[in-house]
Amino acid sequence: MTLLPTYQDVVDAAARLEGHAHRTPVLRSSTADTRWGAEFFFKCENFQRMGAFKFRGAFNALSKFDAAQKKAGAIAFSSGNHAQAVALSARILGMPAVIVMPRDAPAAKLAATREYGAEVIPYDRFTEDREAVTKKIAAERGMTLIPPYDHPDVIAGQGTAARELFEETGPLDALFVCLGGGGLTSGSALSARALSPQAKVYGVEPEAGNDGQQSLRAGHIVHIDTPKTIADGAQTQHLGDYTFGIIRRDVDDILTVSDAQLVDAMRFFAERMKMVVEPTGCLAFAAACAMAESGGLKGQRVGVIVSGGNVDLARYAALLAG
Ligand SMILES: *Cc1c(COP(=O)(O)O)cnc(C)c1O
Repeated sequence: MTLLPTYQDVVDAAARLEGHAHRTPVLRSSTADTRWGAEFFFKCENFQRMGAFKFRGAFNALSKFDAAQKKAGAIAFSSGNHAQAVALSARILGMPAVIVMPRDAPAAKLAATREYGAEVIPYDRFTEDREAVTKKIAAERGMTLIPPYDHPDVIAGQGTAARELFEETGPLDALFVCLGGGGLTSGSALSARALSPQAKVYGVEPEAGNDGQQSLRAGHIVHIDTPKTIADGAQTQHLGDYTFGIIRRDVDDILTVSDAQLVDAMRFFAERMKMVVEPTGCLAFAAACAMAESGGLKGQRVGVIVSGGNVDLARYAALLAG
């Protein structure tokens, strides 16, 4: 049986992150409050270092390395925000980092990861297994593999965003969180249960990739094929043992939204709040809007975690224009 991280681990993570992670703003929108008849509190992790909450979990995990681990460094496989998070954290903590990325990943992403000082090792998505490639390099170089979500230190780090939110707002009636592999949702749930035990906690997935919802209903982790959705940060195929363990205990429900709802939320953030939010970062708010529209949040105080803002501008413009 895996020992699940606790709220105390979130508190310890917050101490490690102090002075390194931004304490991101909690923004309000009177337009949103009026239009949807609830009080919204937006925790804006699109303003976090490297543009997403993932810095929190990666930095917390790398901070806990012992001297030998630090000398050999960290390795991760990712083409998204986790790659940048591990690269930046390693640079700050003065250790080497290797990121295994698909050879055909967007050039901007490869460049950004290298700019943070990581060594990028490309692999062929069609002929090679990225996990096998990563494990081989990790073994050869003695590097520590940091997975994007299913790791106690990653979960504890991600939980610090919701902790900061509740510190600022006090207890809330509901909390909506963007859900991929569940690191952010499970960490947020730890903070919610400690600081706002009455709050309903919802993880929100893309409709096309509702493996988390299926898992919660089935009572075990359900695997799916890589879903087709504009929410590229939530194209995970399954939850992890740690994240599912916390989610099944502490999360009230997992909701889904369509890509069209994500674009509506993205447009609202741009027009009304002057914020660039990536499609995955819109999951939580899109579900909150839907619940409010069906009358489920009347007069309630609602927390929304806006998880990130890293989106290629041409793609962003095309989505908003479409
Ligand atoms: C990774 C990511 C998610 C999903 O987080 P999990 O911890 O995998 O559930 C959501 N939004 C953004 C912007 C991300 O980068």
